[in-house]
Amino acid sequence: MMMTGKQYLDSLDDGRQIYLDGQRVDDVAAEPLFEAATRWVASGYDATHRPGDGEAGPYYDIPGSPQDLREQLELLLGWDMVTVTTAQGLLALLTAAARMRGTHPGYARRIEDYFEYCKSRDLRCVQAITDAKGNRKLPPSKQDDPDLYTRIVERRPDGIVVRGAKLHISAAAICHELVVMPTKMMKPGEEDWAVACAIPVGAPGVKIVNTTYAPRAEEEHFPYSSRYNMPEGFVVLDDVFVPNERVFLCGETEYSATFAHSLGLWERLGGSAHLAEGGDLLVGLAQLIAEANGLERVAHIKDKIAEMIIYATLTRAGLEAAIANAKTTPEGWVYPDELFTNAAKHYGAAEFNLMVRHLHDIAGGAVLTAPSMNDLRSSEVGPFVEKYMRTMDGVPAEYRMRLFHAIRDITADAYGGWQLVTMIQSGGGLYAQRLVVAKHYDMDRAKRLGLAAAGLTGEEAG
Ligand SMILES: Cc1cc2nc3c(=O)[nH]c(=O)nc-3n(C[C@H](O)[C@H](O)[C@H](O)COP(=O)(O)OP(=O)(O)OC[C@H]3O[C@@H](n4cnc5c(N)ncnc54)[C@H](O)[C@@H]3O)c2cc1C
Repeated sequence: MMMTGKQYLDSLDDGRQIYLDGQRVDDVAAEPLFEAATRWVASGYDATHRPGDGEAGPYYDIPGSPQDLREQLELLLGWDMVTVTTAQGLLALLTAAARMRGTHPGYARRIEDYFEYCKSRDLRCVQAITDAKGNRKLPPSKQDDPDLYTRIVERRPDGIVVRGAKLHISAAAICHELVVMPTKMMKPGEEDWAVACAIPVGAPGVKIVNTTYAPRAEEEHFPYSSRYNMPEGFVVLDDVFVPNERVFLCGETEYSATFAHSLGLWERLGGSAHLAEGGDLLVGLAQLIAEANGLERVAHIKDKIAEMIIYATLTRAGLEAAIANAKTTPEGWVYPDELFTNAAKHYGAAEFNLMVRHLHDIAGGAVLTAPSMNDLRSSEVGPFVEKYMRTMDGVPAEYRMRLFHAIRDITADAYGGWQLVTMIQSGGGLYAQRLVVAKHYDMDRAKRLGLAAAGLTGEEAG
């Protein structure tokens, strides 16, 4: 049965241990700083809801052709972040299942059963990969505290007990399921850290400490982030029991990186889609504020906007190439091309800050200092704000101020700061994307071109 928005909100009342600003949050759906996030997710439930047994949302569709993949990506742009992570996380699990089926058919079957379980209950999942990691230069087994990487602390006939922490887990507090996967490749001897499983958020031992960029001030001053925000979860797994049917990896180090690689692919594809759309949004804001300032025909402004257009278009081109070159698994499931997906995500993320710089350069200082809409409405100072914030006939103060507030909110305030870091770190960080790109690039062909250009055959080098 699919859930309605109301049923989703009610489902959060399951005894989960959620913390914010040092306090336990007893009623997650009623917490003001989570309200926009839960309302966003609930509205997604209502938008897709169909009554009756056997119905399921489009976020559970498994793409069977590049066209399916494209259509799902177009839908994804309209989904809330929790629904996006659900679709990406479950597709990643299925991709891992396909890769493990030959040697571990039992795990593959459990993953498929879990997929059906989530689908039949219309559950929302987040991916819990990133560990605390302690001293980055040391492997899990050499850390002074073995819990710095999530690990199995007990094996029982009916399941396992896991301990550790998964950090930066977006929206963990307001979803149903944590899909836990190893943060990196584990080596022989590190079997206890090679663990993948699914854990309900309300399970005993799960504690989630939250941060949020949800505005704590006048909503009108934050036109974007007051509607679109998500808590970030610092997820503690304090000796959590996981029954066997929810364990997808238990010590098989050779498959420890399979989950993260599979997820990386889907997460970066979604990231590229958002970056392409976000690139167009930056272009739109730049053009609108240039027009509002009377500068749209000035050469250096046009030049910067042209560079932003090229950025948005190339990011989208990479996304299109990832879809057009999609591959098919033996099960008939389609997944995007690794090289184009990772190259598009890396390019879009690495250049994002430069595009924001262009936008700030074009817009001017009022990005930060435009008075609030309450100041505009003030009987005492409002007329002055109106007089000095307008620029010309057809550009009243309110119009221009709303543009400035949107630019500040999206690129230069709490949410803007969140975006700047997230672009760099999400999907495993830029370095992870460079590794995958190097692995999938046809280096032999590139070298042949180099040799031919130099008039060499390659035989010359000893
Ligand atoms: C807003 C946000 C949301 C996120 N959402 C999720 C989520 O939903 N689920 C999830 O699992 N993760 C999530 N992440 C985590 C994200 O994937 C990580 O931040 C990212 O993988 C980097 O890990 P880290 O933050 O621990 O940084 P670090 O691993 O400390 O990396 C910092 C820098 O050090 C480098 N480095 C680290 N170790 C080494 C080494 N051994 N040798 C050389 N260089 C090294 C890295 O390449 C990087 O340049 C999110 C992150 C953010 C910011």
